[in-house]
Amino acid sequence: MPTALITGASRGLGAEIARRLSPTHDLLLGGRPSSELDTLATELDGASTFPVDLTDYDEVEAATEAINALDVLVHNAGVGSSLEGVADTPVEEWQHVLEVNLVAAAELTRLLLPALREAGGHVVFVNSGAGRRANPGWAPYAASKFGLRALADALRAEEPTLRVTSVFPGRIDTEMQRDLVAIEGNEYDPSQFLKTSTVANAIVHAIATPADAHPEEIVLRPTGRG
Ligand code: NAP
Repeated sequence: MPTALITGASRGLGAEIARRLSPTHDLLLGGRPSSELDTLATELDGASTFPVDLTDYDEVEAATEAINALDVLVHNAGVGSSLEGVADTPVEEWQHVLEVNLVAAAELTRLLLPALREAGGHVVFVNSGAGRRANPGWAPYAASKFGLRALADALRAEEPTLRVTSVFPGRIDTEMQRDLVAIEGNEYDPSQFLKTSTVANAIVHAIATPADAHPEEIVLRPTGRG
């Protein structure tokens, strides 16, 4: 079976991508060490954990050393931001959001490029609607996702033997979304948001696209009719 590494697989969208890729791929499940990650690895046949903090670059390098060939890399791990305006966003928040959402993805890609080239692999970047449009209060998160799109575009141009897909979902019903709605002071209504299963299906479909096609970008907006 081909092998796929999914970052941020401990919950939310990443866990759903893992469940849906599991019948066709041996999985490496990324996330900081946790019982959720261990439990998912025992539930899914052929899955093991990749238990590292993606911003601990020595740890990431050590964890990638044993990976010689990799068919699929899904960059899904990410953090939200506080929704403060630029005037009130401290430098530490800019650094944290850009580091997890962008710099760590670039470094993991760099470390795994030999393995991806070996397999003629597919790299999927889970971007966001915020990676196409920056609304008030979203500057650090949107900047990280605009940057992630640039990383994906440059990688696609530099590595013609790989396929590189950016996925831009609108708001998804996950823990990250619950935190954002709480910060906004609104009532949480899951029907307003994309289901993790819908977004995961689109990603799995992109990965399963036959080799004659390169799915470069996928944009999914919630209809509010979930
Ligand atoms: P989530 O429920 O908060 O899960 C985030 C995942 O990222 C967790 O598995 C977490 O793992 C992992 N992670 C965070 N920091 C990490 C670090 N330093 N090292 C390793 N792993 C780390 O988020 P989600 O809503 O499923 O979001 C998944 C992706 O979709 C993100 O890239 C997000 O930006 C994007 N997205 C989300 C929405 C939305 O509305 N929710 C919309 C569009 C795009 P641990 O905490 O267990 O380590």
